[in-house]
Amino acid sequence: ASTWANVPQGPPDAILGITEAFKKDSHPKKINLGVGAYRDDAGKPYVLPSVRTAEQKVVDARLDKEYAGITGVPSFVSSAIKLAYADSLDPSRVSATQSISGTGALRIGGAFLQRFYPGVKTVYIPNPSWANHTAVFSDSGLKVEKYRYYNKETIGLDFEGMVEDIKNMPKGSIVLLHACAHNPTGVDPTQEQWRAISDAVKEGGHFPFFDMAYQGFASGDTDRDAFALRHFIKEGHNPCLAQSFAKNMGLYGERVGAFSIVTASPEEAARVASQVKILVRPLYSNPPVHGARVASAILGDAQLNAQWLAEVKAMADRIIDMRKLLKLNLERLGSRRDWSHITSQIGMFAYTGLGPEQMELLAKEHSVYATKDGRISVAGITTGNVQRLAEAIHAVTG
Ligand code: PLP
Repeated sequence: ASTWANVPQGPPDAILGITEAFKKDSHPKKINLGVGAYRDDAGKPYVLPSVRTAEQKVVDARLDKEYAGITGVPSFVSSAIKLAYADSLDPSRVSATQSISGTGALRIGGAFLQRFYPGVKTVYIPNPSWANHTAVFSDSGLKVEKYRYYNKETIGLDFEGMVEDIKNMPKGSIVLLHACAHNPTGVDPTQEQWRAISDAVKEGGHFPFFDMAYQGFASGDTDRDAFALRHFIKEGHNPCLAQSFAKNMGLYGERVGAFSIVTASPEEAARVASQVKILVRPLYSNPPVHGARVASAILGDAQLNAQWLAEVKAMADRIIDMRKLLKLNLERLGSRRDWSHITSQIGMFAYTGLGPEQMELLAKEHSVYATKDGRISVAGITTGNVQRLAEAIHAVTG
């Protein structure tokens, strides 16, 4: 028999399955709201003009293609840290490394916690959470559990449930928090609620792990979107952080990210950094340089940085506008449902509250494709398709 005769067929990736079905559909006005990538109002992938300029600068500099160090391009890493933490702390307390985008940052974090975290090696993620969190952390050797997050009845935050669950975790657990633009629900705590969440995490002696995949992409303001992280630091937490530049710089395929751990002192940061290097070396030796150079060229240049911030805001604003337009169109069609959650949610995704059967109908009868959990990528909505989308949603919910 062949060596691999007993390898079982694995299930296909849920999102890729949607893309496949979408591609096969011959409907001229089919709509794909499955993928989590920004689209412009013509439904096309968008390369930020600031990225184009920065990329040209990088090419014109005719840099060599030597290996980066294990922790990546230093100017990128220090700029990324500044973007996330601003002046909430002394950066010499932060141990940081470039990572293979947000996923890689989470994976390094998982591996570091698995090896060195002295508390309970269980990471609690929200229910629901980004589909990959469970796999990333369990492949890192951590136990994965869930805390209450989403309230089906209100299509909003189950704030009381969340705080109660945090308080009831075994003392010293790891709590994964989406810094902003929660995926898949689009439901974020208010600043007032974040304060209470910080208190609950402190009360439990837990360790906060922030996943910040959408800084700037939620509200359009990179400082506002970093509120939770910076508030936790102000409150004396020493969290770790996974950053991604996939969405806010549109650098998806370049895989630009950073992983950092806030420590108690520069001396501790140095010890932690030495161990992060020891972890990364056998994983991939060192990260790719091009995307990090591009991001660094933007973050390190006042004019380009200002341009980028305006472009991030424009992306966030377009998404916010599409939420309003979808709600408006549903109301115009006479939908008796309350769609206010569409506009109170934030970020790339909206949780419509539609069930799996309704999502099935959307695909089969209206050629509108999205995940079965009722999540739609608002980035895939345009002024050109929003009316048809509203009609389809109204038809399956009416
Ligand atoms: N974390 C969350 C919550 C996400 O939604 C994503 C991307 O969809 C990621 C992390 C990581 O993405 P990437 O590895 O492309 O940076």
